[in-house]
Amino acid sequence: MNDDADCIFCKIIQGDIPSFKVFEDDATFAFMDINPANDGHVLVIPKEHAADVYNVSDSAITATVLTAKKVAAAVERSMQPDGLNLLQCNGPAAAQSVFHFHMHVLPRRSGDELKLNWGLKPGDMESIEALSVKIRQNIQ
Ligand code: AMP
Ligand code: ZN
Repeated sequence: MNDDADCIFCKIIQGDIPSFKVFEDDATFAFMDINPANDGHVLVIPKEHAADVYNVSDSAITATVLTAKKVAAAVERSMQPDGLNLLQCNGPAAAQSVFHFHMHVLPRRSGDELKLNWGLKPGDMESIEALSVKIRQNIQ
């Protein structure tokens, strides 16, 4: 796969940086966000490196959306959120912080008051890992 030596998500795909993986196929990789905006926050990325929506290939974005659909269903089965956003951010005003195209699978709770550009706050690694196991088991 086309990768970028300086990209943190390319390193996660290659296993050079650890992650709580929930799903992987030939074209995509899904793992827990370690600064979750809400419990069960998952990131889905194409294995082919591209910085953003302006650069991602048609095949990579298609594969990423299909995996996001699969992961969203697993999150729904795992934790029955009150709602769920699929989100994707490009550029500074959208608070993009990692320049490898990714989709957020973001469970919502009624009244969580979550806004766009939610900010990064480290989560509890034990509970993130426990949720990753549950979501992985619910992938179909
Ligand atoms: P964005 O702001 O849309 O670029 O989202 C990037 C996301 O990547 C943020 O939600 C970060 O918490 C997340 N992130 C950054 N580094 C890691 C990592 N090593 N493992 C998991 N998630 C990460
Ligand atoms: Zn990359």
